[in-house]
Amino acid sequence: MDADVLVAGAGPVGLFVAAELRLGGARPLVVDRLPEPATERKARGIGALATEALTRRGLGPQLAEAHEEGVRDFARDHGSALGHFAGIHKLRPDETRPRTHLWQPDLEWLLAGHADALGVPVRRAHRVVSVESDADGVTVVAETPQGERRLRAAYLVGCDGGRSAVRELAGFGFPGTPPLLRTIAGEVRFGGPVPPAGRYATGAFLHGGSLAGVTEPARDGEPDGPVTPAELAAAIRRVTGTDVVVEEVREPRRFGDQARQADDYRRGRVFLAGDAAHVHSPSGGQGLDLGLLDAANLGWKLAAVVRGEMPDTLLDSYFRERGPAGAAVLRNTRAQSALLAPGPQVDALREIVGELMDLPEGNRYFAELLSGVPLGYEFPYPAAEPAGLHSPDRVLVDDAGRETRLSDHTRGGRGLLVLDCDHRDHRDLADERVDTVPVTNTESFLLRPDGVIAWASGDETTLPTALDTWFG
Ligand SMILES: Cc1cc2nc3c(=O)[nH]c(=O)nc-3n(C[C@H](O)[C@H](O)[C@H](O)COP(=O)(O)OP(=O)(O)OC[C@H]3O[C@@H](n4cnc5c(N)ncnc54)[C@H](O)[C@@H]3O)c2cc1C
Repeated sequence: MDADVLVAGAGPVGLFVAAELRLGGARPLVVDRLPEPATERKARGIGALATEALTRRGLGPQLAEAHEEGVRDFARDHGSALGHFAGIHKLRPDETRPRTHLWQPDLEWLLAGHADALGVPVRRAHRVVSVESDADGVTVVAETPQGERRLRAAYLVGCDGGRSAVRELAGFGFPGTPPLLRTIAGEVRFGGPVPPAGRYATGAFLHGGSLAGVTEPARDGEPDGPVTPAELAAAIRRVTGTDVVVEEVREPRRFGDQARQADDYRRGRVFLAGDAAHVHSPSGGQGLDLGLLDAANLGWKLAAVVRGEMPDTLLDSYFRERGPAGAAVLRNTRAQSALLAPGPQVDALREIVGELMDLPEGNRYFAELLSGVPLGYEFPYPAAEPAGLHSPDRVLVDDAGRETRLSDHTRGGRGLLVLDCDHRDHRDLADERVDTVPVTNTESFLLRPDGVIAWASGDETTLPTALDTWFG
């Protein structure tokens, strides 16, 4: 075997799942078709749950540093620092569960450093072209500049993006809806006056800072290459009725809003995570959150099965938990697409949605729809909230009054049993399976390695079941 787990794709999700696997004691090997890391500035931020997932692994200070610049760029390009639903910029930031504004290449650089520090090998210029599974493992053929290479591992995780070869080669279904809208955009230098940004009868013209673009109804036979100045000028003319001179389009972006989700995230020894498992419009910036949380969910479970400490059936909880999270994002991005379509009826609907967002409860509702924070997992044992939810980072105070943060105890990627004064005797139950930490300022809870609360004090009977379910 070349590795315990082959990871196809060294994008953010592939790098994070590989790091989580390594932390859990498995030997991953990452392959990517590109000879160098991508520099495309796709995403410009991650949500609260992904921020917390990376903070649990000690990356909080780097995220905070990048955020300062990212938030300035966001406000410059969008004309507002407020978050948005379908381009309606009214969402107040959640100070208790903050998101991080940072550009995707910076995030990938951070994750590459994290994976490297853990000793994760990454082989570039390796394009997966064949996948074959049998009872004992998976054989992958990768095209490299030196010819084809066969790689063998016990498991394969496809993190190879929206056009995933692994998804296709392993025969996953990928049902969903075709694009309603398409957007072309980039960092644009105009050679003369520019019409006002906003919604027009046949589409929208986006313009803020040096970023400019057009959103229009999708048509058959869209071009697929980089956006050219002539193509963008023609689109601006079609939508605004104004002739513009586009001198240069740097960092061109072309994307649609088709919404598709794999019918399962597992076929035997092959798993999907990130965009390979789900694609949707970037509205609301949720793709990375979804993918990084897939990685956090799968990594520790697969590592535990590879170590032989947990049964294979643990892996079925991956899709059971992450499938609904993906479906929820597809639902709200489809709704955003409907609200971004041109037309006077949609204009009226946008006004009404904007009014709802002015109400404090409405504002919170839309913010939570995008953050996914209130979306809990269902467990195979009785568990009342906060069990099933992701825990935020928080201050813990020990018996001597010393303060630490929860994230100070989670870097090693193990489960954690936080015990208040009334539950110290539960330490015996932890039984080497999870770490324990005594506290005086909060009630007891059990945290899985992915930051999900598996048990919370109140129901004393389910702690042994929770420990057995997740830690054997
Ligand atoms: C314009 C735009 C703006 C966006 N804004 C946001 C945002 O603000 N916030 C947010 O959360 N999300 C945003 N997204 C979505 C986000 O970029 C994606 O969800 C994210 O890139 C998914 O990461 P991934 O690792 O799953 O896939 P990718 O980033 O696509 O990485 C896949 C990797 O697999 C490699 N690969 C592909 N095929 C093969 C193969 N056959 N063999 C080996 N390697 C292969 C690729 O080279 C690549 O490195 C945006 C997307 C776009 C297009």
